[in-house]
Amino acid sequence: MGLNSGGMLSESYVLLTYNRRMSILKVARMGNPVLREKARPVEPSELCTPATQKLIDDMIQTVVEYQGIGLAGPQVHECRRIFVAGVENGDDPMPLMVVVNPKLVLLGGTPIEDWEGCLSIPDLRGRVPRAPEVELRALDRHGEILRLKTHGYAARVIQHEIDHLDGVLFVDRMRSFDSLTHLDEFSRFWTADEG
Ligand code: ZN
Repeated sequence: MGLNSGGMLSESYVLLTYNRRMSILKVARMGNPVLREKARPVEPSELCTPATQKLIDDMIQTVVEYQGIGLAGPQVHECRRIFVAGVENGDDPMPLMVVVNPKLVLLGGTPIEDWEGCLSIPDLRGRVPRAPEVELRALDRHGEILRLKTHGYAARVIQHEIDHLDGVLFVDRMRSFDSLTHLDEFSRFWTADEG
């Protein structure tokens, strides 16, 4: 997921998790068919390999480099069910997580609209309805069970990233394109009414 006012991950926030051997990966942009593929599950035996662990490290460095708050495998041409996400501050902070083979239960009733961006759709934002609360079950990068019940912006980020694993982009979820806006126009025309 892309820019978010104040919530992006900073280098200092994840400093302890990465090292100099990491690389910044090329992020696929909308129109690249890789973003429309359905990603395959990660085998437990594959998760612990140096290659997969390096991919995870590289995804973390890439999302930090581009000041995002989430990045999914297909966005870096890896059609495997892995994403990284974290919200550093704001109302619903979420520690940086590595999420593998996620299963999601949508909770909380009526979907709520809020702004989303995406590193694969640079310079655009739009309002997207999402479930206000989710329960996530997945594996972490070490193959341990990860369980999380969360709400608000963190729940939104998780839904956005899991959509990437199914070839779905945030624009597909918009009820109308009336709010689809470039970032400059977002600042000029949309920030005043933002609650
Ligand atoms: Zn995205």
